[in-house]
Amino acid sequence: MDKTILVSGGAGFIGSHVTVELIEAGYGVVVADNMSNCDMTCFEGVKKITGRDDIPFVKMDFCDAAAVDRLFSDYRIDAVIHFAAYKAVGESVAQPVKYYKNNLSSFLNVLESASAHGGCNVLFSSSATVYGEPDTLPVTETSPRQPATSPYGNTKQICEDILRDTVKATAGSEGEIKGIALRYFNPIGAHPSGLIGELPRGVPNNLVPFITQTAIGKRECLSIFGNDYPTPDGTCQRDYIDIVDLAKAHVCAVSRMLDGDMEEDYEIFNIGTGRPVSVLELVNAFEKVNGLKLNYRFAPRREGDVTAIWADPAEANKKMGWKAERTVEETLAAAWAWEKHIAGQE
Ligand code: UDP
Repeated sequence: MDKTILVSGGAGFIGSHVTVELIEAGYGVVVADNMSNCDMTCFEGVKKITGRDDIPFVKMDFCDAAAVDRLFSDYRIDAVIHFAAYKAVGESVAQPVKYYKNNLSSFLNVLESASAHGGCNVLFSSSATVYGEPDTLPVTETSPRQPATSPYGNTKQICEDILRDTVKATAGSEGEIKGIALRYFNPIGAHPSGLIGELPRGVPNNLVPFITQTAIGKRECLSIFGNDYPTPDGTCQRDYIDIVDLAKAHVCAVSRMLDGDMEEDYEIFNIGTGRPVSVLELVNAFEKVNGLKLNYRFAPRREGDVTAIWADPAEANKKMGWKAERTVEETLAAAWAWEKHIAGQE
């Protein structure tokens, strides 16, 4: 197979796992990243896992239109997977201009160059955040999007719309763009090799890095935000999707685009397990599978959190032939192995 996939933001948490799966599926990969939110740990891990020392890596900023265009001149790109974006919800509320500027202009540059260089397949990493607080569960791809509650969430919605409109406008032209938006639920875990995983800077916002950092003693105590929600145990429910399962969904989506299997030129898929898990259930599962006790307490609700959301992944199951396979226990064991791996390096 001699297809080349550009992975923007490919040195980060999701990008590095996707790079591994693409290479293992036989694709050529070009990794590009501005390293604004990561170091080379994961990219080095990718090289070790795949046994490949020759993966092209370009340090560049996707807000730099000339640099993006150079990339498309230097490589014959068959598909782009676009991860390069800021992702901290709270920071986006405090610094909206930074978020809109970065997340929108980087994506616009990719689309402009992709189209100018003869068209391309574009996979956009979207989020279940577009569903807001859903009226009915589980959510399907046709469940209505809700007004975004943060600039971060809004950039996901706007980029989905930009992709949809660009696909429509370029259809049948020389610079044709075909697109898939994958709406991720809650990606967690790490590669089973223990060589790549999440490397949050500062105090983690997300639940699982906070859990593993508490378990290893970097944080004193996990705060569970709210235990008075209208859910079975009072804590929020989410659809936690294993990072390797999630990465494999990208390979399925890329193959679907490259093999001409798309039913529409722009498609959307939920990437989740279909299984709701509460914060308390996740904490209990982490303790049990790793044989330890976690220091936690109940704290007030966190502003902006939805009560419950989980996916109906039937579309991705049926049309892409993709299915989440790993259990929450396997995923939480991998997350803990990764935390211990990085602690050993510090
Ligand atoms: N959460 C928590 N304590 C933390 C971080 C998160 O109780 O330190 C809860 C949060 O309220 C939500 C769930 O864990 O119900 C998942 O939060 P996360 O930030 O990981 O993802 P989100 O669903 O907000 O995108």
